[in-house]
Parts: sequence; C-alpha cells; structure tokens
Amino acid sequence: MERANSFIRLAPLLLYIATHELVHVVRFERGEGNFDASAEERQDEEGKVHRITHHLLKPVTDSDLNLVLDCFSDRYRIGDLMQ
Ligand SMILES: [Zn+2]
Repeated sequence: MERANSFIRLAPLLLYIATHELVHVVRFERGEGNFDASAEERQDEEGKVHRITHHLLKPVTDSDLNLVLDCFSDRYRIGDLMQ
C-alpha cells in the first residue's frame, strides 16, 4: 500500500498508546487480565489488547492513525517490542 506520508506522528501514536493502556486497565478491573500471568499468558493478553484497541480505533481512523494501527498489527509485530 502506497502512502503519501510514511512517518508516524506523535498524536495518533499517543492516542493508540492511551487507548491500549485503558483497555488493559478495564480488563484488569473486570478480572480478564492477570498481573501474575505466565509469559505465554501475558503474550496472549497483549495480543487481545492490541486487537481490542484496533477495533476501538478503526471507526475514527485516518491515514496517520492507520499507519500506527499497521505498526501494531500482527503483520509487523512492533508491539512486541513494547511489552
Ligand atoms: Zn499492552
């Protein structure tokens, strides 16, 4: 996919990170996430949180936010570096 601007911008990146962290908070509050999980369970939880974050932000996305969503998608797995 060709893009006019392939640089990640700060505002959509911060939006993604804030949304992602809020999803973690809500899931912990509901007992769906677990601080004492094994490494494998934490990786599964991280994948779920990324998918939920993607789902939440998709309706309001634009090209700048799309680039951020792509970077945290299963296609690139950049999100693994932030665990
Ligand atoms: Zn996370």
